[in-house]
Amino acid sequence: MISLAPHSPRLGLLLHQLGISAGEIIRRGLPVFAEAQDLIVVETRATRGFLLQPQAAQAWWEMQAAAAADGVVLELVSAFRSIERQAELIRRKLDNGLALADILSVLAIPGTSEHHTGCAIDVTTPGCPPADASFEDTAAFVWLNAHAAGHGYTLSFPRNNPEGYLYEPWHWCFERDRLLAEAD
Ligand SMILES: [Zn+2]
Repeated sequence: MISLAPHSPRLGLLLHQLGISAGEIIRRGLPVFAEAQDLIVVETRATRGFLLQPQAAQAWWEMQAAAAADGVVLELVSAFRSIERQAELIRRKLDNGLALADILSVLAIPGTSEHHTGCAIDVTTPGCPPADASFEDTAAFVWLNAHAAGHGYTLSFPRNNPEGYLYEPWHWCFERDRLLAEAD
């Protein structure tokens, strides 16, 4: 059984406000992740700070440097995201008239995003739009496939992933197996 309460008393209410039933999480067999408590600033760009869990941050810095040494530029698009922020992103799309089912094929249900853990990153490279399937055709993606695992990062959502998300070549997660084992 999945219990939502231990992680966030407000999660049930958030889901209700978005019109998402908690049963949807169970039906999809999705893990519920705890929000990271221990976060550090990985990078600040313009007015925006990217946060990650310390070990994931260290591994990211090392991976980014290793890629650079091979002539490959890796850039962060997204790192830690709170449950509240995830709900806000969904709310905005609902307000713009998008259907919930379509939204949930590209945005995780609040509570189930790997970004809550501070261990997931969305990556791009110069010339590639952020969070775009064309990332698959970049040298950065080829490099990640060859080297990311050596830094503890794996691709979370390949084609036909069991979670039912669209293919996300840009989304990589640090120690994903451990996170899934710890999730409810
Ligand atoms: Zn992502």
